[in-house]
Amino acid sequence: MTCKYKNCQFSDYNPKELNHEDNIWCQFHTPESFYNYTEEYSISKFESIVDEFETALDKYLKENIKNKKKINLKGVVFPADVRLNNKIIPSDISFLDAIFMRHNSFIDTVFEQRVYFTNTIFRGLTTFSGAKFLRHCSFLSTQFNHKAYFSKVNEEVEFCETANFRAASFNALTDFTAAIFHDDVDFTGLPDSIADSGEVPPETFPTIRFQGAIFKKSSKFNNRKFLDSPIFSDCIFYIAPEFHNSELHQGIIFNRAKFIDFKSKGASSAYRTLRLAMLNMRFRKEEGMFYALEQKSLLYSGDMGMVERFTSRCYNILADYGLSISRPLLFLLLTLSLFVFIYASLASSALSFKYDIDWNIISQSFGFSMEQILAPFKIWQLDQLPQWACDQSPNLNFVNNATCSPFKLLLFKFLGTFQSLISLILLTLTLLGVRWRFRRN
Ligand SMILES: [Zn+2]
Repeated sequence: MTCKYKNCQFSDYNPKELNHEDNIWCQFHTPESFYNYTEEYSISKFESIVDEFETALDKYLKENIKNKKKINLKGVVFPADVRLNNKIIPSDISFLDAIFMRHNSFIDTVFEQRVYFTNTIFRGLTTFSGAKFLRHCSFLSTQFNHKAYFSKVNEEVEFCETANFRAASFNALTDFTAAIFHDDVDFTGLPDSIADSGEVPPETFPTIRFQGAIFKKSSKFNNRKFLDSPIFSDCIFYIAPEFHNSELHQGIIFNRAKFIDFKSKGASSAYRTLRLAMLNMRFRKEEGMFYALEQKSLLYSGDMGMVERFTSRCYNILADYGLSISRPLLFLLLTLSLFVFIYASLASSALSFKYDIDWNIISQSFGFSMEQILAPFKIWQLDQLPQWACDQSPNLNFVNNATCSPFKLLLFKFLGTFQSLISLILLTLTLLGVRWRFRRN
């Protein structure tokens, strides 16, 4: 056996040998240039060679699948379309350095063991629709020179263990619609060391769709440049996705995407990166969303002092970090009602569920409560309490006992001040929410 390919793994299989440019190659390793396809792709000249290749490949695959032996297709050049649909691959399979010259499909194929497409080149359209990767799969430095589909047809594509797409190059539409990543997935472009040097621009994603994809562990999209609108609508991210050092496209879509991670180690910095990207593109709504996510992650990180943590919690509860305009208004209404009740119960010793409601006192308390919102702190100009607040009926209540006493006046003043303060804060939060959402410059 004299195949020029270094350590040719097919020497025991008696493959056909082909002569190309004064070298002998086995039929699996014969270089691309041998086939010399014209632009109008004519396979007829190579028909018999391709037929023999396919027969030999089929035999090799069947034998190895049957014996559950590792399938080693390292360096193989596939001269014709490859269809490995609906197959169950029970052993490790490697396409290291392989070249697929034509279109390929692995539809609904189940890879039960590890899969290596490391350094593989796909020249034609490639589809893994409905495929299941039950163990680790590597697309490290893989080149997709045509469209690549990892999308749902009958069933979703599932990656059950880690999936590595680091430094993979995508050169046309890439579709991961509804894919499920059960474990970590890494789409990082160039290695950090190269990307950080700034000498090489981030690797590109032409058009990439992840609509409805589910990321159950970490997902990394670092060092990538998105050339067209990436679609992440309806995605669920169980761990905050990383987009560090990436250039996002203005058309990026996160509609209805769910981010449910506040606790993982890199969550706050992952959200900060997204917030800054949204800020640069002046996407107010998304910027607000990632700001809220960042703040919630910081709350869990334990990097905050007590006062900061308390303030952050209050902001979260009262206004969802500025995302909600209706929530502070609702709290304002609640505060108003609460204080109506407090003023009325202080004013009247007879306010009890046992008696009829004294609507006069309630309405007076309502007016008083409104005044604390509309004219904050004006209560300090009062010399004495209004008549309605001075109960004349004899009772044993320690406050009302001394009707219209200086103490009761002071109590009303402190309560009024407290209500004014809370109301001012809530009104400010409402206005800030409006401003943030509708700011134009
Ligand atoms: Zn060979």
